[in-house]
Amino acid sequence: MKDKDKTQQNQINKCRSQMPPPFRRTYDKAVRGRSPSAGIKAYCHECCGWNRLEVTVCCCLGCPLYPYRPHQKRVKKEPDGLNPNNENPYVEGQ
Ligand code: SF4
Repeated sequence: MKDKDKTQQNQINKCRSQMPPPFRRTYDKAVRGRSPSAGIKAYCHECCGWNRLEVTVCCCLGCPLYPYRPHQKRVKKEPDGLNPNNENPYVEGQ
């Protein structure tokens, strides 16, 4: 194994050891470099501290991965208190 390969493998092993086991399979798929969707999913998981619900409710609209983030289908209806036009009921004149 070349030095670059060893360095990369060491970093992968380190990242892998620091994440909860249920997220390792997607990460492994991503670092093999053959699945862009696994890469996006793994990145979003890490971004949200390996909390799938946090990815679901991500509100970082400016993130380039936002349209592609996983777990979007988990939100089936607006939470109570939000209207269909997504207006904030607490701001006057909207
Ligand atoms: S879309 Fe949201 S969860 Fe995914 S990387 Fe961007 S900010 Fe993080």
